[in-house]
Amino acid sequence: MRSGSKTLTTSAGSIDRSMVEQIVRQVALEYLGRGKSTQAPVLTVQTSSRHMHVCREDMDVLFGLGSELTFDRPLFQEGNFAAKETVTIVGPRNRLISNLRILGPMRKQSQIELAFTDAIMLGFTDIPVRLSGDIAGTPGAVVIGPKGVVELKEGLIRAAIHVHMNPDEAAYFGVAKGDRMKLPFWRRGRRDLQQRSCSDRSHVTPQRPHGHR
Ligand SMILES: [Zn+2]
Repeated sequence: MRSGSKTLTTSAGSIDRSMVEQIVRQVALEYLGRGKSTQAPVLTVQTSSRHMHVCREDMDVLFGLGSELTFDRPLFQEGNFAAKETVTIVGPRNRLISNLRILGPMRKQSQIELAFTDAIMLGFTDIPVRLSGDIAGTPGAVVIGPKGVVELKEGLIRAAIHVHMNPDEAAYFGVAKGDRMKLPFWRRGRRDLQQRSCSDRSHVTPQRPHGHR
């Protein structure tokens, strides 16, 4: 460790949170070529596993008329939660994925978000990468719940990598809904390691319409 360089190792071998935040902010500012006086918003990166969003009508069929989702645990974005309810989905070659978690609250349209490997496992070769809610023309699947079966005509997507920002954060980064950003990675604060763009450039979703992820 050269003296004077920014490093995450101190003489004590560890650092406190404020120092981490300061370093992250500094790197972000340098990356953006902004002045050092402005504080960069700290955004959170999360991943989510496969899940389903369900509409009222499909909920009625799958879990019974008037049934409600049962809260299991909160998601990062306020008001959104993983439900206790799960379903089984059946793909075109009768392969299935069981214990598919439903995320609440209910939506206007049912939608299933899968990983690429899930899609292959189910026998799909053509599940498009879409932003959440953009399901027109996507494949469907048969969904089995404890009380009934729904045949979704469409709604299977692989979720596009996207960024949620509030309007202030979007203004800071100078982006608007639908813009694309590059997301560089660095490990343990060292941007000279593992700096790469993600293969998909990230979509920006400034108004938090999706509710999770
Ligand atoms: Zn989702």
